[in-house]
Amino acid sequence: MPIDATLPYDDQNIFAKILRGEIPSQRVYEDDWAIAFHDIAPQAPVHLLVIPRGPYVSWDDFSERAPAGEIAGFVRAVGRVARDHGLVAAGYRLLANVGGDAGQEVAHLHVHLFGGQPLGPMLA
Ligand code: 5GP
Repeated sequence: MPIDATLPYDDQNIFAKILRGEIPSQRVYEDDWAIAFHDIAPQAPVHLLVIPRGPYVSWDDFSERAPAGEIAGFVRAVGRVARDHGLVAAGYRLLANVGGDAGQEVAHLHVHLFGGQPLGPMLA
Protein backbone atom coordinates (compact mmCIF):
# COMPACT_ATOMS: atom_id res chain seq x y z
CA MET A 1 0.00 0.00 0.00
CA PRO A 2 1.72 3.23 -1.13
CA ILE A 3 2.22 5.78 1.61
CA ASP A 4 1.11 9.39 1.90
CA ALA A 5 4.46 11.16 1.65
CA THR A 6 3.07 14.32 3.24
CA LEU A 7 2.56 12.62 6.63
CA PRO A 8 5.03 13.32 9.45
CA TYR A 9 7.99 10.95 9.82
CA ASP A 10 7.14 7.75 11.70
CA ASP A 11 10.22 6.21 13.32
CA GLN A 12 8.59 2.77 13.29
CA ASN A 13 8.99 2.42 9.51
CA ILE A 14 11.04 -0.56 8.38
CA PHE A 15 14.05 1.44 7.17
CA ALA A 16 14.21 3.31 10.49
CA LYS A 17 14.42 -0.10 12.16
CA ILE A 18 17.16 -1.17 9.72
CA LEU A 19 19.06 2.06 10.49
CA ARG A 20 18.87 1.36 14.22
CA GLY A 21 19.90 -2.25 13.66
CA GLU A 22 16.61 -3.56 15.08
CA ILE A 23 16.01 -5.69 12.02
CA PRO A 24 18.73 -7.26 9.90
CA SER A 25 19.89 -6.07 6.52
CA GLN A 26 22.82 -6.79 4.24
CA ARG A 27 24.59 -3.48 4.75
CA VAL A 28 27.19 -2.61 2.12
CA TYR A 29 28.02 0.98 3.01
CA GLU A 30 27.71 3.47 5.83
CA ASP A 31 29.02 6.89 6.68
CA ASP A 32 27.86 9.87 8.74
CA TRP A 33 25.05 10.69 6.32
CA ALA A 34 23.79 7.50 4.75
CA ILE A 35 23.65 3.74 4.77
CA ALA A 36 23.17 1.35 1.86
CA PHE A 37 21.93 -2.21 1.90
CA HIS A 38 20.63 -4.87 -0.48
CA ASP A 39 16.96 -4.72 -1.43
CA ILE A 40 15.14 -7.73 -0.03
CA ALA A 41 13.52 -8.39 -3.44
CA PRO A 42 16.19 -7.51 -6.00
CA GLN A 43 15.09 -6.58 -9.50
CA ALA A 44 18.60 -6.52 -11.00
CA PRO A 45 21.92 -8.27 -10.25
CA VAL A 46 22.79 -5.23 -8.16
CA HIS A 47 19.79 -3.69 -6.40
CA LEU A 48 20.74 -1.55 -3.44
CA LEU A 49 18.85 0.97 -1.37
CA VAL A 50 20.63 4.08 -0.18
CA ILE A 51 18.96 6.01 2.63
CA PRO A 52 19.86 9.13 4.55
CA ARG A 53 20.36 8.68 8.29
CA GLY A 54 18.05 11.62 8.92
CA PRO A 55 14.27 11.30 9.38
CA TYR A 56 12.88 12.26 5.98
CA VAL A 57 9.84 10.77 4.28
CA SER A 58 10.03 12.31 0.83
CA TRP A 59 12.38 14.08 -1.54
CA ASP A 60 10.41 17.26 -0.88
CA ASP A 61 10.87 16.87 2.87
CA PHE A 62 14.60 16.17 2.46
CA SER A 63 15.38 18.92 -0.02
CA GLU A 64 13.51 21.55 2.03
CA ARG A 65 14.43 20.57 5.61
CA ALA A 66 17.84 18.95 5.48
CA PRO A 67 20.90 21.14 5.97
CA ALA A 68 22.99 21.54 2.83
CA GLY A 69 25.82 19.44 4.30
CA GLU A 70 23.45 16.55 4.87
CA ILE A 71 22.12 16.74 1.31
CA ALA A 72 25.66 16.83 -0.06
CA GLY A 73 26.68 13.92 2.16
CA PHE A 74 23.77 11.81 0.97
CA VAL A 75 24.33 12.56 -2.70
CA ARG A 76 28.03 11.76 -2.33
CA ALA A 77 27.20 8.50 -0.56
CA VAL A 78 25.02 7.40 -3.48
CA GLY A 79 27.90 8.04 -5.86
CA ARG A 80 30.34 6.19 -3.64
CA VAL A 81 28.11 3.14 -3.39
CA ALA A 82 27.92 2.97 -7.19
CA ARG A 83 31.68 3.35 -7.48
CA ASP A 84 32.39 0.79 -4.73
CA HIS A 85 30.30 -1.72 -6.68
CA GLY A 86 32.27 -1.13 -9.88
CA LEU A 87 29.29 0.30 -11.72
CA VAL A 88 30.66 3.58 -13.00
CA ALA A 89 32.06 2.32 -16.30
CA ALA A 90 29.12 0.11 -17.25
CA GLY A 91 26.45 2.45 -15.88
CA TYR A 92 23.62 2.14 -13.44
CA ARG A 93 20.19 3.55 -12.66
CA LEU A 94 19.01 5.62 -9.69
CA LEU A 95 15.34 5.83 -8.85
CA ALA A 96 13.37 7.35 -5.98
CA ASN A 97 9.68 6.61 -5.63
CA VAL A 98 8.02 9.50 -3.83
CA GLY A 99 4.43 9.26 -2.65
CA GLY A 100 1.34 7.46 -3.82
CA ASP A 101 1.47 7.83 -7.60
CA ALA A 102 5.06 6.55 -7.62
CA GLY A 103 4.16 3.62 -5.35
CA GLN A 104 6.46 4.52 -2.44
CA GLU A 105 6.00 1.74 0.10
CA VAL A 106 8.44 2.68 2.85
CA ALA A 107 8.07 6.06 4.56
CA HIS A 108 11.78 6.82 4.81
CA LEU A 109 13.37 8.47 1.77
CA HIS A 110 15.37 5.98 -0.26
CA VAL A 111 17.12 5.79 -3.60
CA HIS A 112 17.18 2.51 -5.50
CA LEU A 113 20.47 1.78 -7.24
CA PHE A 114 20.20 -0.80 -10.03
CA GLY A 115 23.05 -2.22 -12.07
CA GLY A 116 25.02 -5.25 -13.12
CA GLN A 117 23.34 -5.77 -16.50
CA PRO A 118 21.78 -3.71 -19.29
CA LEU A 119 18.69 -2.42 -17.53
CA GLY A 120 16.29 -1.91 -20.41
CA PRO A 121 13.05 -0.19 -19.51
CA MET A 122 12.36 1.31 -16.11
CA LEU A 123 12.59 -0.96 -13.05
CA ALA A 124 10.74 -0.62 -9.72
P1 5GP B 1 9.62 1.69 -2.73
O1 5GP B 1 8.52 1.04 -3.49
O2 5GP B 1 9.13 2.31 -1.43
O3 5GP B 1 10.40 2.64 -3.58
O4 5GP B 1 10.66 0.55 -2.41
C1 5GP B 1 10.75 -0.09 -1.19
C2 5GP B 1 11.75 -1.20 -1.40
O5 5GP B 1 12.11 -1.70 -0.14
C3 5GP B 1 11.24 -2.38 -2.22
O6 5GP B 1 12.07 -2.57 -3.36
C4 5GP B 1 11.30 -3.56 -1.25
O7 5GP B 1 11.70 -4.76 -1.88
C5 5GP B 1 12.30 -3.08 -0.22
N1 5GP B 1 12.08 -3.60 1.11
C6 5GP B 1 10.90 -3.67 1.78
N2 5GP B 1 11.06 -4.19 3.01
C7 5GP B 1 12.38 -4.46 3.12
C8 5GP B 1 13.17 -5.00 4.17
O8 5GP B 1 12.70 -5.36 5.25
N3 5GP B 1 14.50 -5.13 3.93
C9 5GP B 1 15.07 -4.74 2.76
N4 5GP B 1 16.38 -4.91 2.63
N5 5GP B 1 14.36 -4.21 1.74
C10 5GP B 1 13.03 -4.09 1.92
